[in-house]
Amino acid sequence: MKIGILGGGQLGKMIAQAARRLPFPVEIAIYDASPTACARTESDSFSVGSFHDAQSMLTFASGHDIVTYEFENIDPDIVTRMSNVPQGASALGILQNRLKEKEFINSLPGVQCVPYTLVEDQCPFDYPYIVKPISLGYDGKGQHVIADERDERYLKEGMVAEQYLSDVTEYSIIIARNIQGEIIGYPTFENSHVNQILDTTRFAQIDTIWEDAMRKKAISIAEALDYCGVLTVEFFFSNDRLYVNEVAPRVHNSGHVTLDAVQASQFDLHLFGLLGLPFPELEVDPSWCMVNVLGQHYRRVCDRDLPGHFYDYGKQSTKSNRKVGHINGRLCDLELLKRARIA
Ligand code: ADP
Ligand code: MG
Repeated sequence: MKIGILGGGQLGKMIAQAARRLPFPVEIAIYDASPTACARTESDSFSVGSFHDAQSMLTFASGHDIVTYEFENIDPDIVTRMSNVPQGASALGILQNRLKEKEFINSLPGVQCVPYTLVEDQCPFDYPYIVKPISLGYDGKGQHVIADERDERYLKEGMVAEQYLSDVTEYSIIIARNIQGEIIGYPTFENSHVNQILDTTRFAQIDTIWEDAMRKKAISIAEALDYCGVLTVEFFFSNDRLYVNEVAPRVHNSGHVTLDAVQASQFDLHLFGLLGLPFPELEVDPSWCMVNVLGQHYRRVCDRDLPGHFYDYGKQSTKSNRKVGHINGRLCDLELLKRARIA
């Protein structure tokens, strides 16, 4: 089985590692714009090419049985021309553009995002609100909370503004759908962010009514996109209301805890979904949690003997505020693991 992965970051790396656990031999090829992409070490072959170069991407894809993408900023017109990408191109076309994504979310019955508007010339909401670039954002890049008129210098035409929820709990739902349309999912994850970057994930302790509501919304999103593979839906829960924040047509940072907490990780389920393999009954141990490791934490984490598993992505550089690894440990050690990164 020849598997091609578009994108050589940590997600591509962990998909490749999961592919090696499949019960048959695989050949893994990775395509990335950077020759030093961290997934390279897991590949049998590695192609360096631009994500704007349709010809080289199509040549790459045609040499494989299936192709998957690990990030959403890939030209959907190029992916449309590939016949072997079960995730499909329509998820990319919609979800890589914040405005299209929100219109799509609100068009589904019973699914809603936070009130938003396109930034034009005047102030769109009462303070505080948040502005976000329409595309290419990750880890809060390019986003600004507008708390008063001094912050309005960050407003740029064409950005998306949305109401800022001050009292919010963040959850994510990770489901996998296969080519037969079967769906399986993990329990809900509760996520905490620092500076708009995911900091920790644990299994949520939440009323099943809300959990079921989130799951239903996530399933209707996956079905509306006729999506195959792992799909992640980020939710905001505020004042007894559930809003969809974003949808990622891929494995997700909040699912990294499944590498230890579940016998089948999100990377395994992603591949099972793409390949149409039967989904296993999931055995979940909710006592696990995950702590992200950013560039500024790296040295300390490497030098310590920590109660948990450190997944080092092997990044070429350890820049501040960039994800370079994560630690899966027990919830009872969460505070210790968080602190060990900084002191
Ligand atoms: P990215 O695409 O960079 O992940 P998100 O839109 O998910 O961007 O925002 C990153 C984080 O910023 C969220 O997980 C949340 O912590 C915070 N955030 C974003 N939008 C809002 C909002 N409307 N209200 C409150 N917090 C928000
Ligand atoms: Mg997000």
